[in-house]
Amino acid sequence: MSSNESGPLLAAPAAAAPSNVSCAPFVIEASGVSHAYEGQTGWVHALENFEIKIARNEFLCLLGPSGCGKSSFLRMVTGLMKPLEGEIKLNGTRIEKPGLDRGIVFQEPALFPWLTALRNVAFGLEMSGMDREAVDERAAEVLRIVGLESAMHLYPYQLSGGMRHRVAVARAWALPDASLLLMDEPFSAIDAVNRMTLQKYLVDAWLAEPRTVIYVTHDIDEAVYLADRIAIMTPSPGRVGSTVQVDLERPRDRNSDAATKLRAELTGTMHRLGKH
Ligand code: ADP
Repeated sequence: MSSNESGPLLAAPAAAAPSNVSCAPFVIEASGVSHAYEGQTGWVHALENFEIKIARNEFLCLLGPSGCGKSSFLRMVTGLMKPLEGEIKLNGTRIEKPGLDRGIVFQEPALFPWLTALRNVAFGLEMSGMDREAVDERAAEVLRIVGLESAMHLYPYQLSGGMRHRVAVARAWALPDASLLLMDEPFSAIDAVNRMTLQKYLVDAWLAEPRTVIYVTHDIDEAVYLADRIAIMTPSPGRVGSTVQVDLERPRDRNSDAATKLRAELTGTMHRLGKH
């Protein structure tokens, strides 16, 4: 693993872009992004000169303490909010609005209770104009990847909390044109054992069908298990204070010496950044 304290690491693109997507060298390019909210007692500076470049099929974890602006950045990438300063480009084009090229997974799985797991996953695909047979095939395929083959026809109330989260991951993963998956602490409300299982399914999905992922977390262990690269944010106002390339082989052994060493390094870096 290698780290870079001076700013964002410019990783080389992981693979050649498929023919149906832009040839921009990076999926995400954020430059000079600053944002503030007007609160009751004045302005809250959420982000200041936040910069990052994310390569195609890179799994990037955005790691930082609560309130450092992680979700604000993710909201800007969804296109639901614009930065006050700076810009974020998606495949070379400035993000101006939401699009079906971005799949989103939030803390709450937010499934439609009246639809089965299969139809929940199929929903976004139907919106993208695929025919019904192709939609069903694709939805079933992605549910198999997250280990829900036998639960496809169950309704959300018949699924455990962890299974509902896996449906939410499958729904985002299924989108054919999703050049980017955005995950905002999707498993943080889940107990520790089930969270590890969900992380494993997420890695399985990523290995089966690599995607560019931005995964927001405040959990060092989670970042070490999941990420190709970890961008560590400073406390509010947030910017990328350090980046660490994680060169551990997948599936990862959480208890390996290398993982333990990396966790200790990251803890030290977070403390150091927190003192500034
Ligand atoms: P994180 O995801 O790292 O916890 P957020 O992006 O949610 O951080 O928030 C960054 C800062 O901006 C925090 O101080 C938070 O209170 C503030 N903030 C976020 N959203 C709003 C909002 N809609 N209005 C006012 N302040 C906000």
